Amino acid sequence: MQLIIFGPPGVGKGTLSDLLSNKFKIPHISTGDIFRNEINSGNSELTQYVEKGLLVPDMVVNKVIEKSLKEENCKNGFILDGYPRTIDQAEFLENALWKLNKKIDLVLNLAASEDKIIERLTARRNCSKCGALYNLITMKPKKKDVCDKCGSALIMRKDDEPETIKKRISVYRQETEPLIEYYKKKKILIEIDATPKPKEIFNAAVRVIEEKIPKQQ
Ligand code: ADP
Ligand code: ZN
Repeated sequence: MQLIIFGPPGVGKGTLSDLLSNKFKIPHISTGDIFRNEINSGNSELTQYVEKGLLVPDMVVNKVIEKSLKEENCKNGFILDGYPRTIDQAEFLENALWKLNKKIDLVLNLAASEDKIIERLTARRNCSKCGALYNLITMKPKKKDVCDKCGSALIMRKDDEPETIKKRISVYRQETEPLIEYYKKKKILIEIDATPKPKEIFNAAVRVIEEKIPKQQ
């Protein structure tokens, strides 16, 4: 089963992808996580884009994805989070999957108001070590600023600063939102209300997946 979790920055793509990845035992591929890991291991080329809220060039992203999709753990499916983000990337993906005799089964479009996503981005924290996601309003850690899973410090992403948040939303509207029409035309896009709690969004997503891709049941 090949899924795309789509939506604006901060809507909860990462949280939903993690939950779905656990349930269906297929890998969660987040281009944002891949780039942040690369930056942490010293690839400073990417900083100029990621920390400013700009898109990494299509050629770079496409290469990273092509490599991930060929890996053994993707043979039964995968969940893409944060990719594709441009029409060029979507076309590249289609072609790369075609070569592997695969296709995207479903695009889940997470929808929430701009106020809601700004609120979520501002409250978002990440574990500095294991990457676990928290939210100071809806998914608080048990102990302030400490990861429940590994005990490391929680940090705020550089691109979650208010000015960068605005930039990311405007990049989303311009470059990424047109993909909604693109996938609507292919009749594989389903909208999911992303305003409720993570568990409810997850339940709604599972219902849609089991209805649209029945072999998962
Ligand atoms: P969010 O969806 O919350 O904005 P991500 O973690 O998905 O955050 O992405 C963080 C940053 O990584 C983006 O702002 C961009 O710089 C880069 N990035 C991630 N995925 C892509 C992509 N598919 N194309 C271009 N840049 C990307
Ligand atoms: Zn942790």
